[in-house]
Amino acid sequence: MFKNASNDYWENTWRQELATQSTMKYLQVQHPVVDNPHNLWKSIRPRQHQVQRAEIKAWLITGTFILQSNAMKYNKSDVSATCKLCGVNDETREHLLGRCSALSQLREENFTRLRAITCISDDNKLQPSHKTLIC
Ligand SMILES: [Zn+2]
Repeated sequence: MFKNASNDYWENTWRQELATQSTMKYLQVQHPVVDNPHNLWKSIRPRQHQVQRAEIKAWLITGTFILQSNAMKYNKSDVSATCKLCGVNDETREHLLGRCSALSQLREENFTRLRAITCISDDNKLQPSHKTLIC
């Protein structure tokens, strides 16, 4: 009974956070939320470099990774919002993950690997799940 009440509490707390926090926009909360680590953490081995990579991914997913565009908001005179990798656009999460030309080759390599195991179209969009069986 206590476990059910505890699970219900955390389930409701997560739902409220998802509905109200903009940083939760890209976070897929899995169910049940208790005793079920996020796939991000399940997908790694307990090796230092893998944990560090997963930590960065978690920061990016939750919008808590400090990007140039974030740093610029707090230090306008000292920090440029421009991406340090390409030097062309502002470094936002969307730019870094989806548009930065300096990362295009790496991104394409990863999408190629993902296409081999999932259903991602040539324009890098995940196919609807109902098409999963036919792609
Ligand atoms: Zn860039």
